[in-house]
Amino acid sequence: MTVPVFQNFVHGQFLANQSGEKFAVKNPATDQVIYEVEVADEVVQKAAIESAKQGFQVWSAMSPIERSRILHKAVALLRERNDQLAEIEVLDTGKPWQEAECVDVQTGADVIEYFAGLAPTQVGSQQPVGNDFFYTRKEPLGICAGIGAWNYPLQIACWKSGPALAAGNVLIFKPSEETPLGAIKLAEIFIEAGVPAGVFNVVQGAAKVGQWLTTHPQIEKVSFTGEVGTGKKVMQSAASNLKEVTMELGGKSPLIVFEDADLSQAVSAAMLGNFYTQGEVCTNCTRVFVHRSVYQPFLDELLERTEHNIIAGDPMDPSVNLGALISKQHQQLVLDYIEKGIAEGAKVLTGGRALSPESAPNGYFVAPTIFVDCDDDMTIVKEEIFGPVMSVLVFDDEQEVIERANNTHLGLAAGVFTQNIKRAHRVIHQLAAGICWINSYGNSPAEMPVGGYKQSGIGRENGIETLDQYTQTKSVYVGMSDIESPF
Ligand code: NAP
Repeated sequence: MTVPVFQNFVHGQFLANQSGEKFAVKNPATDQVIYEVEVADEVVQKAAIESAKQGFQVWSAMSPIERSRILHKAVALLRERNDQLAEIEVLDTGKPWQEAECVDVQTGADVIEYFAGLAPTQVGSQQPVGNDFFYTRKEPLGICAGIGAWNYPLQIACWKSGPALAAGNVLIFKPSEETPLGAIKLAEIFIEAGVPAGVFNVVQGAAKVGQWLTTHPQIEKVSFTGEVGTGKKVMQSAASNLKEVTMELGGKSPLIVFEDADLSQAVSAAMLGNFYTQGEVCTNCTRVFVHRSVYQPFLDELLERTEHNIIAGDPMDPSVNLGALISKQHQQLVLDYIEKGIAEGAKVLTGGRALSPESAPNGYFVAPTIFVDCDDDMTIVKEEIFGPVMSVLVFDDEQEVIERANNTHLGLAAGVFTQNIKRAHRVIHQLAAGICWINSYGNSPAEMPVGGYKQSGIGRENGIETLDQYTQTKSVYVGMSDIESPF
């Protein structure tokens, strides 16, 4: 069966490569190849840089309000095409339609809308120095690169392009090889909205293309989303010309459920923070610490809801709420972690195996899995699994749980459930994590900065401060009096 072939998107149009190299993309729910994509070879790479240079000349010369107006048009198109784009995300990632339809495109559009609104608010300063004065300008960095993960492909492309473009930069974006189509659709939308050619180019391929971006001397910044190990490599390469970096990396986040918590709410948070997007969410609370006095009732409700309310199957079926993992290889990795958990002494309360639902028998599904009898040194409690695997741990006191929650090299997110307002803030303030929730889990509005502590990241996405990370300050000193020179 022949499938469509997508080329790279450079300077407002599709561009054929010369090497003929391409890769196939499979639907994780069916194991079928759905399309192919050409790899960005040297010809495409060169064209992408030349185009970005031209795009930067035009885009950075526009007034912020003009840029804002154009980006708002792109936002309207994204929302208009929500269903078509959401379907692409479902077919590429295997995630349920019921999520993609209301989250992926909309949270991407929200962020572009937010930064489009902020674009004209960027101001410099002016300060007198005796009779002289200086002023500052917020200038864009130039050509930036974005490298995305496969779990929220379109959303990640929007979260990186929103602030980059609003601040007057241009972006060359490389999506994950697993999920390359959403970024192309975004590129088409930008062009349709009036974003000049070259401002958002999409190059395709795996690590090699990523490496090219991170070492290219004319790229000023890399915004990366992916694993900690890859992030370290990207930072090393980016050091070649001292590029700025933003790193959005992995996590092993704690959720702490105190004895006075609303238990049903805490169970909802634990399930959302482990099983949403079949567990492939960076902020997931995969270490659920429950106070000994409520441990059993918490587990009872968690088990009952996990076994009765989760429906795995064809992700396009609106009733399905557990999709397929991204690839067969990743499914195996998650199953290997489960085996390791069992071998190290943890007990599977439910799940712990692959699934083959009737409506998607060839998909890469893993049953929602809950481990109990866990201790802090187990591999499943220490390493990011990135699948629907939750470890439940027991604790007795506040200081103990804070120390245990912080006992990791990662620090992306954290959550606390308690009715005690003082304790909620006291505990959250002591947790080493960049994204925290009290009596909630997972919400990430465009206005809220997100990013990791420790090895979970550098810099932030979303929120006002992100715009600053896409600008540099130029100071201009203006002499109003004669120069006093000893020469
Ligand atoms: P990954 O394997 O690190 O890949 C991320 C991106 O980097 C992909 O586009 C990948 O290309 C590319 N890449 C691989 N090696 C590279 C290299 N040496 N130089 C430059 N680019 C390179 O991560 P993933 O498996 O796609 O995503 C899952 C990870 O992302 C998890 O750890 C998750 O926690 C993290 N994540 C973090 C956030 C956050 O906001 N903190 C959000 C989402 C996901 P190919 O895929 O084409 O090989």
